[in-house]
Amino acid sequence: AKTGGKGRLEVFQPSHHTAMLQRDAVRAELSGALDAGQLQLHYQPIVDIPTQRVIGFEALLRWRHPERGLVSPLEFIPLAEENGLIVPIGRWVLQEAIRQAAEWQNRSPLGRLRMSVNVSVRQFQHPDLVHDVADALARSGLEPSLLTLEITESLFAQDIEATSRKIGLLKDLGVRLALDDFGTGYSSLSYLRRFPIDTLKIDKSFIDGVATSLEGHALVAAITQLGQNLHLEVVAEGLEDGDQLQALRALDCPLGQGYHFSRPLSAGDAVKLMLIGKKP
Ligand code: C2E
Ligand code: CA
Ligand code: CA
Ligand code: CA
Repeated sequence: AKTGGKGRLEVFQPSHHTAMLQRDAVRAELSGALDAGQLQLHYQPIVDIPTQRVIGFEALLRWRHPERGLVSPLEFIPLAEENGLIVPIGRWVLQEAIRQAAEWQNRSPLGRLRMSVNVSVRQFQHPDLVHDVADALARSGLEPSLLTLEITESLFAQDIEATSRKIGLLKDLGVRLALDDFGTGYSSLSYLRRFPIDTLKIDKSFIDGVATSLEGHALVAAITQLGQNLHLEVVAEGLEDGDQLQALRALDCPLGQGYHFSRPLSAGDAVKLMLIGKKP
């Protein structure tokens, strides 16, 4: 490596340039990925903690890239948000997850399974969202109450009147709303009263400490209690071990989701799970 100010610049520039080229390449490829059928959904079980029964799934997006293999949504969702591709991609996710849920609704021995779908801020704000949800529900025949839309607190930092109106329209369709990553964002608790939220998903960062630190335990206890008092359903996210499960059970946290129960599964593996009632 070269030394001195100029040298450092030269070292910095190529890598910066490479990163930009990669971003542009990913962006270009991503716009083709949807048409090429490279996007897929995986499904992670949501489990009733007292009975350990699967009550539904969260749909999680995957990009099956021809050279890079399975690409994480953490790598491409932020890019898709930035360039607007999240709108057509999100529309596809809604249609596919709802279609899948309707198919499972009629066939699963586990009974009435719910489906959760993540909706990003930009997708939420798009004028077509309510229509897209209504349309996918109507075409699939899925009972609206089996669909949960997962939104984040960052929505409350946007135009609050518009957000409020749209939340009302979505509730009118009969779907459920969950507040994802609860506790990590712009948490003004008054929004829990102001908006018809059904579910709080306690972020993994809180669950990580529930069995190992007093403060961690106290935080999860407080959020669980808040949920009970406001008649909100609570899901513990990123539940990874038996100690956490025990702690959550003792706190009467009703629902859990995490590797301890199951990783996100392909549709085929999710069906196997439903048929045999345990991890494939
Ligand atoms: P999220 O909505 O908070 O989803 C939960 C993430 O935690 C998923 O990561 C899941 O695989 C992971 N996870 C679940 N249990 C555990 C656990 O026990 N331990 C650990 N370490 N991780 C666990 P994934 O699938 O990589 O998704 C990351 C994020 O990408 C999601 O976070 C969500 O914000 C976003 N995302 C995924 N699919 C979609 C989508 O269809 N639309 C939108 N807008 N965003 C999506
Ligand atoms: Ca989520
Ligand atoms: Ca989450
Ligand atoms: Ca998250």
